[in-house]
Amino acid sequence: MATEIIFPLLSGNTSMDLVNTEVVSHGTRHDLLTSKEHVLAWFNTIKKEGNISRDQFNMDIELWANDALPLLRELRSFLRDGYEKSADGKELTPDWNTHLELLIKRAPFMYQLKNDQLIPIPIGEPDDALISIIALDALKILSSNQLSKIHRCANPECVLLFIDTHGRRKWCSMKICGNRSKVTRHQQLKIK
Ligand SMILES: [Zn+2]
Repeated sequence: MATEIIFPLLSGNTSMDLVNTEVVSHGTRHDLLTSKEHVLAWFNTIKKEGNISRDQFNMDIELWANDALPLLRELRSFLRDGYEKSADGKELTPDWNTHLELLIKRAPFMYQLKNDQLIPIPIGEPDDALISIIALDALKILSSNQLSKIHRCANPECVLLFIDTHGRRKWCSMKICGNRSKVTRHQQLKIK
């Protein structure tokens, strides 16, 4: 059984969810992706959310989670760099998407229709397949003009990023940072 780990902010975008496997709680940065067990837990979590499917992999995750760990960590830091730049209003250079396109070349896609849904199936080693799926998600964020909608959480201590489609969201989530800020403001008001 995989260790129970709660991933804080699931967005439906696997690339964003990967970046958000680094969190800060009580002032300390925690990395939720440092072992095979973490890979299993993350994989099972995004599978449960419906963002990946068992049909996309030709081997059980237990057999390749170890191989996937360094690839995921490398992709995560690449994506974080791009997403943080976007959140700070900087343009990404074409090298960014070229790198993602090259990652997909290691396990390119064929398509299968399952239950009326078109599922991209990466052809290659399963660890490369997972990287392809995440890289494709990042390219979809780019091609649908959503990079400019990426924001950092308004809590300066929080490292979570999110895509704001409505233009009003300040916090990664009300539950994690929004309420805490409200409580602090409330306490400060009382002190005054
Ligand atoms: Zn936050």
